[in-house]
Amino acid sequence: MSGREILIAGGGIGGLAAALALAQKGRRVRVLEKSDEFGEIGYGIQMGPNVARMLERLGVLKSLEPASVFPEALIFADAMTNEEVTRISLGKAFLARYQFRYFVIHRRDLHGGLLQACRQRSEIVLESSRGIRNCTQQGDTVAVVCENGAAYEGAALIGADGLWSPTRQSVIGDGAPRMAGHYVYRGVVPTGEVADKSRIDTMTIWGGPDLHMVQYRLQGGAVMNNVATICSRRIRRGEPNPGAADELEEIFARTHPGVRDNLRYISRERNWVLHDRDPATNWTDGRVTLLGDAAHPTLQYLAQGAQMAIEDGVVLAEKVAAAGEDYHRAFMAYQRERMNRTARVVLSSRFFGEYIHVDGGARELRNDLARGRDPDHPWEVDWLYKGIDVNDRL
Ligand SMILES: Cc1cc2nc3c(=O)[nH]c(=O)nc-3n(C[C@H](O)[C@H](O)[C@H](O)COP(=O)(O)OP(=O)(O)OC[C@H]3O[C@@H](n4cnc5c(N)ncnc54)[C@H](O)[C@@H]3O)c2cc1C
Repeated sequence: MSGREILIAGGGIGGLAAALALAQKGRRVRVLEKSDEFGEIGYGIQMGPNVARMLERLGVLKSLEPASVFPEALIFADAMTNEEVTRISLGKAFLARYQFRYFVIHRRDLHGGLLQACRQRSEIVLESSRGIRNCTQQGDTVAVVCENGAAYEGAALIGADGLWSPTRQSVIGDGAPRMAGHYVYRGVVPTGEVADKSRIDTMTIWGGPDLHMVQYRLQGGAVMNNVATICSRRIRRGEPNPGAADELEEIFARTHPGVRDNLRYISRERNWVLHDRDPATNWTDGRVTLLGDAAHPTLQYLAQGAQMAIEDGVVLAEKVAAAGEDYHRAFMAYQRERMNRTARVVLSSRFFGEYIHVDGGARELRNDLARGRDPDHPWEVDWLYKGIDVNDRL
């Protein structure tokens, strides 16, 4: 163990991955989490081979396997016809190309795996009910004050405090994120309750005008994760109650009955309002930097937000180890290396969000072009799945 403590604001997937990666480099870390308990919401998350590689480096991949499901293929189907338009096969050719498998997992299982690994490291202190309110820098020290008045000092601060990050406001100060006008509803049900099991071994996404639905199994196949997203027409028309449950029904009304039927697995109790930000050019101020959604929040259309946060943590730790106590140098090297890749995820996710949701002639063209794809060559995401070269260049 070496040096003074590094503070991390936020014990989500990104904050814990960073803590673990830094501890592996012998650094002392204190994670300050706003919630009363370290935890995650109860839905699924997709993990590509690029992040499987990182999770192996962090020593947690194997422990996640029993809770993971490894789909045979990623299927894109048309929500209006229920026709499979194209697929990415996740079999031998995929494994040979990327060395790691694609898997889906319950968020609690992923977060729990990282948390357990953190708890086993003497370098890491985890504190809940510690929402940070502000931070200041003086000389080689960063001071943090929490909402409950608790105060801490450290050698550096990593803001892994999510979409509404207060740390970002002290580093960049760019206000609220951009609302996309897209609303997400989710539901997890026992797999036995799902009527149509024809695509049960896959991760299927049905795209349609202003909507899409995603379905895949979790927890060794025991439960089915269902996600329905709409691009609110009420927002575009300036009407009240955008994204409300009755708009979900309205927008899905024209879809194929076999697709619409999946809405019964979706809970109407709450929805998620999607946001992202234009890529920023500086996430670092002295000894403070940002990570994950705090740095580069993205729409979910490439399913890469958490994966980018985990990659961030691994790269950050490498740069910190290489820079000794010069945290500013380490953080600048980290941001330089992460900026373009994460910007590409943010901008490509916006593009895929458009592509999935088109109607009319654009929908016909999309389907026609997609039908010609080679299932064994996912060229659109090849740059992503190939992963990153983690190095100690400063
Ligand atoms: C519908 C949907 C589907 C998605 N699907 C995928 C997917 O399949 N694959 C994928 O990789 N990504 C996916 N994502 C994105 C992913 O959920 C996020 O990118 C990821 O959770 C970001 O992790 P994070 O640790 O940066 O932030 P968060 O998960 O938001 O964690 C931030 C943590 O900081 C805490 N916090 C907040 N404020 C403070 C404060 N002031 N002080 C201290 N702590 C604080 C929070 O309580 C939280 O624990 C999806 C997102 C959505 C909305």
